[in-house]
Amino acid sequence: MNNFKHFPYKKVLVLGLAKSGLATAEVLDKNNINLIVNDLSAKEEDPIVQKLKNQGIEIILGSHPLELLDEVDLIVKNPGIPYTNKLLSEAINRKIPIITEVELTYQILNGQDLIGITGSNGKTTTTSLVAEFFKEDKQKLYTAGNIGTVSIEVAEKLNEDESLLLELSSFQLQGTKEFKPHIAALLNLYEAHLDYHGSFSNYSEAKAGIFSNQTEKDFLVYNYDDKEVSDIVKRGKATLVPFSIKLPLKNGAWTDGDFLYFKNEKIVNIAEIVLVGDHNISNILAAIAISKLKGIRNQSIRNVLKVFSGVKHRLEYVCEKHGRYFYNDSKATNILATEQALKAFDTPTILLAGGLDRGDDFSPLIPYLKNVKALVLFGETKEKLKKVGITAGISNIHLVETMKDAVETAYNQSQRKDIILLSPACASWDQYKTFEVRGNLFKENIKEID
Ligand code: ADP
Repeated sequence: MNNFKHFPYKKVLVLGLAKSGLATAEVLDKNNINLIVNDLSAKEEDPIVQKLKNQGIEIILGSHPLELLDEVDLIVKNPGIPYTNKLLSEAINRKIPIITEVELTYQILNGQDLIGITGSNGKTTTTSLVAEFFKEDKQKLYTAGNIGTVSIEVAEKLNEDESLLLELSSFQLQGTKEFKPHIAALLNLYEAHLDYHGSFSNYSEAKAGIFSNQTEKDFLVYNYDDKEVSDIVKRGKATLVPFSIKLPLKNGAWTDGDFLYFKNEKIVNIAEIVLVGDHNISNILAAIAISKLKGIRNQSIRNVLKVFSGVKHRLEYVCEKHGRYFYNDSKATNILATEQALKAFDTPTILLAGGLDRGDDFSPLIPYLKNVKALVLFGETKEKLKKVGITAGISNIHLVETMKDAVETAYNQSQRKDIILLSPACASWDQYKTFEVRGNLFKENIKEID
């Protein structure tokens, strides 16, 4: 079990309720740590507010009073709250430490093995693969973090012989201080979340938090093919374990185009793997490197790869209807993800795209649009994407308002053997609560086609 025996703080401010805030408050309370919760948008009558109040936890709603800082000596903030928030800037002035729940997770571990995975894209796919490899190999490993379960909740219950696998976002990593996975993986680095981080260098800096405290005894699995990644990992102290889909790297995971290898060992024949796309070969190589470092057997890895067909909303094959093939890649919330999806197909494609405008320049998409015969665009970025489509020489472009219109229009523009692909290159929040809602709506509307 984990404990707060050496927890040096007297009173903690949990900033932001949501899932991680709620879990943090509950775990702290259970361990008799003094705390106060502060949230801007939660309401008195919300069930989670009621629940915490019933437990006797102090909660301040509706504003972020600076006086709160007089009482606390640690802030655990929701990863989404920017450091430009007034309360946080004042806390920085007063030198009150600000961490996220992931750092707290690390601080309460009792030396259990920790694996962390980050990158701009492929985190959930790679994390799921590692989890599946361990399961197939009958090894105890708990998965948490960005992928769903809040890490502090899992960490609190972890036994000493159990390992924890965390999927980590840049937001979570920015709040780390001593956090140190024994095995870390950095999958790729691509301009993302610039609205939050301000610049690419701040963003990469946050991602570097996954390895910055590692020592020579730890391992850093990294993407040799990604220049930004290869450069930044040189700053760490960990033993480097590269993976590449381009070069035979005998000190890591690699491919000769027919098989996947770890060092000198042949692991699996590519022809047996269900997942499609080069980007997924990269993810698989990362997952293999992590798992081989932990002694997972090749047979277990092979068994999983023969059946694993991807995580929902990630280039998920939906169905075939009247000879058209539908793919749901709603999780493609940035340009790189959409490029990978387009690269995976060499037949005529109708692309459904658009969403929240984060100020991205979409022109890097142009070289990948050569098989795109029609564009169906929606959301805040539809006009911007239209311009890019025209520059790419696409004349069949439709601007629509709803997913229903998008699916109908795409179907009307299609013929047998076409791919109809939802891969928005944008976050969903301008029109939908989550990318899952967007992807599910796409799938529901496909059912309506007769
Ligand atoms: P994350 O958890 O980092 O968002 P996911 O595994 O959920 O990553 O995939 C998100 C999107 O990125 C999907 O559209 C998927 O097809 C695409 N993708 C997955 N792996 C990679 C990769 N290694 N490089 C680029 N795009 C990827």
